[in-house]
Amino acid sequence: MSRISFLNGQFLPHENCMVHIEDRGFQFADGIYEVTLFKNGRLIDGDPHIERLFRSLREMKIEHNFTKEFITQLQLDLFAKNNMSEGTCYIQITRGMANRVPWVPKNLTPTISATVSLGKKMTEEEFEKGVSIMTHEDIRWKRCDIKSVALFASSFINQKAKDSGFDDAIFVRDGVVTEGTFANAFIVDANDTLITKAADNLILCGITRNRMIAIAKEKGIKVEERNFSVAEMLNAKEVFLTSSSLILRPATKIDGNQIGNGKAGKISRILLEEYKKFIG
Ligand code: PLP
Repeated sequence: MSRISFLNGQFLPHENCMVHIEDRGFQFADGIYEVTLFKNGRLIDGDPHIERLFRSLREMKIEHNFTKEFITQLQLDLFAKNNMSEGTCYIQITRGMANRVPWVPKNLTPTISATVSLGKKMTEEEFEKGVSIMTHEDIRWKRCDIKSVALFASSFINQKAKDSGFDDAIFVRDGVVTEGTFANAFIVDANDTLITKAADNLILCGITRNRMIAIAKEKGIKVEERNFSVAEMLNAKEVFLTSSSLILRPATKIDGNQIGNGKAGKISRILLEEYKKFIG
């Protein structure tokens, strides 16, 4: 049976979901998205994801009349229709269709689409080994707080990392580590303090980031939300990346330098274990 996806009010076979060539999302990356994890019949941090989705719509001034209840139900229905008890839901809203003009047209009907997938799980061996990272200048625009579909800079640098023999890249802007191509970045210093960049316009304020910070505080781990440099990151005991789909990936090698003992660290392990308990 074909995967069922959602487009503009209809649940359809995945391959039949088509959008117009003059959709603003297609021509201008004029749209936003969310990716939410689903486990045991529950959307993980479903409300914060929807709140961020509405924030992105507000910041991009995309007119709509979607409700939180509608977005929640749509995601749950999609998992049910695909007989899935776990996976991830990708939901995207663009400004809609308009003649191609340079300004931002008003009174459009937004295009809403959603798909589900099984996602990728890290094995224990992959977690223990961690990923190898390349640092790269942050070439993205300065509204990284909006979860916009304009992802080419991230995708381009992610591929550049792979082509250069790394697993992924971490962005650096003006000497400050911002975040991963599709994830937030954390370091653990010599005193076991967990450090991540404070949320501003230069990073996406990750839902997993926020959950990890809350878990760390509950476990009595000191947390600092502040800028840190590449040198501080290279000297850290642990470095890791967080995102809803891949949860927590230790970065055990950065620009060829081993981080800590070159394996997943203690705090990374505690946070992943506690996160797993949280999702059930
Ligand atoms: N930062 C960027 C640039 C991302 O693309 C993502 C996820 O896609 C994240 C951070 C992590 O956000 P979340 O934990 O909400 O998935």
